[in-house]
Amino acid sequence: MKLSPQTIQAAVDAAHSSSAPNIGGANANYIPYLASVPSELFGVAVMTPDGRLYKAGDTDYAFAIESISKVFTLALVTELIGSEAVRQKVGTTPTGLPFNSVMALELHNGKPLSPLVNAGAIAIVSLVSGVSADACWAKILDMQSRFAGRPIALSDEINQSEQTTNFHNRAIGWLLCSAGTCYSDPMRAVDVYTRQCSTLVTTTDLAVMGATLAGGGVNPVTRLSVVAAANIPHLLSEMTMEGLYTASGDWAYQVGLPGKSGVGGGILAVAPGKLAIAAFSPPLDLVGNSVRGQAAVAYIAKALGLNLFGS
Ligand code: GLN
Repeated sequence: MKLSPQTIQAAVDAAHSSSAPNIGGANANYIPYLASVPSELFGVAVMTPDGRLYKAGDTDYAFAIESISKVFTLALVTELIGSEAVRQKVGTTPTGLPFNSVMALELHNGKPLSPLVNAGAIAIVSLVSGVSADACWAKILDMQSRFAGRPIALSDEINQSEQTTNFHNRAIGWLLCSAGTCYSDPMRAVDVYTRQCSTLVTTTDLAVMGATLAGGGVNPVTRLSVVAAANIPHLLSEMTMEGLYTASGDWAYQVGLPGKSGVGGGILAVAPGKLAIAAFSPPLDLVGNSVRGQAAVAYIAKALGLNLFGS
């Protein structure tokens, strides 16, 4: 199907209006900040690799990136150490268990299996070299900014909210350490992982970040290459297998696009070579994925005939 600008904007508008009444789910509350974000906020955006933006709703509201950050740090580490080292040291297969599962680690001798669950993401952060936590953090923040095409910033409020409540993730850090799968000081890795979840992005930012993945690693706004084209299939395959956690299989079955969600309510899907779809709505389902966000992204994917397995 030839996707004209009018066709894409009509799909975005219809996705927004048809998903808006979908009021199921609840804000994440295990991170206090997230519980306080207005639940009715709802933004939808699409960007094509030529930099055209299509949007509806609250696309300029800045929210916590949360787990969507895992994709961009994985991109950084894949560039730094190569895709095969990622597979050996962290693993690249889905866990079939919730994103913060300790049991998943116990079942596999402390190997996280996936870079897109908390344990794997903490291990990925531990592979970012740097003399200090701040040096390591600077590289990760720079990568988020390169994907977004503008300087991304940490929210001190969100970071504070997470750093003072992240006991479960700290436990995961020590379990990785005991298994030999944390490659830096574990509390440093958890600290930096927590910061990477605490940056602020808008739905438009997510669309740009996704369009960079859709466009072979070239940012559509800056025209700079952010990640080698050869690494994009590795990132998108991880998103397909684990991007929506235990719902990833159903998502592939029903929507057929690599995706990534965060407990801040953001969600991103990538149609390689074509476009990225981003949405934001805080209420989550039991797995941890935005209810309205999933509905809106699925609507657009279907309306524009983007299912990868249907092409
Ligand atoms: N910061 C959150 C955590 O570590 C991110 C989880 C998520 O978005 N799924 O629990």
